[in-house]
Amino acid sequence: MTDSRKQTMVDISLVIPCFNEEDTLSVLYKEANCVLAELIKAGSVSTREYIFVDDGSKDNTLSIFRQLANDDNNVHYLSFSRNFGKEAALLAGLQTARGTFVVTLDADGQDPPSLIPLMLEAVISGEYDCAGTRRINRAGEPPIRSFFARRFYALMKKITDVEIIDGARDFRLMNRKYMDAILALPERNRFSKCIFPWIGYKTKWFEYENIARTAGKTKWSFWKLLLYSLDGIIAFSSKPLAIASVMGIFLFLSALAFIVFIIVRRLIWGDPVSGWASTICIILFCSGIQLFTTGILGQYMAKIHTEVKQRPQYIIREAQ
Ligand code: UDP
Ligand code: MG
Repeated sequence: MTDSRKQTMVDISLVIPCFNEEDTLSVLYKEANCVLAELIKAGSVSTREYIFVDDGSKDNTLSIFRQLANDDNNVHYLSFSRNFGKEAALLAGLQTARGTFVVTLDADGQDPPSLIPLMLEAVISGEYDCAGTRRINRAGEPPIRSFFARRFYALMKKITDVEIIDGARDFRLMNRKYMDAILALPERNRFSKCIFPWIGYKTKWFEYENIARTAGKTKWSFWKLLLYSLDGIIAFSSKPLAIASVMGIFLFLSALAFIVFIIVRRLIWGDPVSGWASTICIILFCSGIQLFTTGILGQYMAKIHTEVKQRPQYIIREAQ
């Protein structure tokens, strides 16, 4: 990425994280190009750029980037040294984007570029700082995944202070003010779904029905999604720690009550040895709870560990 490029602002930047998206990229680029050409014709914007981020793809994604950048000098790309995850790819793209307005969207066609003009209109008017999108259904998704996603949103609403929107996508259009606020957050454990509502500002929501990928498969396995949800909970809520403390207090009080019960039983019936089975159950129960709460503590410690190490969130192998 040249220094002269860094100094010049453009009107609109499109940031597109890609991980093995060789089958979907060209379609998306063509579609987005048509939409931006219309906006330029209408006079809403005059300069544009695309920031494609290759998150360590193993297929031809990078060669397609090179080709697109060769054919269109509005196309720029970053290529990571390995897969650092979508959050890192989004961050790198946002840090590189020079747009007065910046759009983030997926490469797979699930975020329709045709919505960009409406989103831009809302933000250009000055009434909103961000235009967000949410899908109103989850058609085409495995039912088990939808079920857990809904439970996750319900849980997050209860245990965090941020207003997380069910079905919100990472497809957004932001103004500079909004974007600078996002980039000012120094944390390494980034969970965008909560970072966006956390910074506040005014967001206008656009809704649409779920669209299937143009090609390829989702990059998120159930397990990866589960770990990502845990990251979100730990990054934006300290409630699990409170639950651990409450459980500790509850067990302590139960133990006190039980001791009183045993003493009374001994004094009245003189029966000291029976009840070994219940003792084992209690030991197992308590050590289970202890391990569980230590695990919660460990999760927070691991996150602190990541933050203090101050490792970069991504490493760029090639850029243009
Ligand atoms: N992605 C990425 N790094 C990853 C996983 C995904 O950059 O480790 C990109 C992917 O190429 C796509 C977007 O993030 O452009 C959303 O991924 P996907 O479509 O697999 O997620 P879903 O839409 O199923 O939530
Ligand atoms: Mg997708």
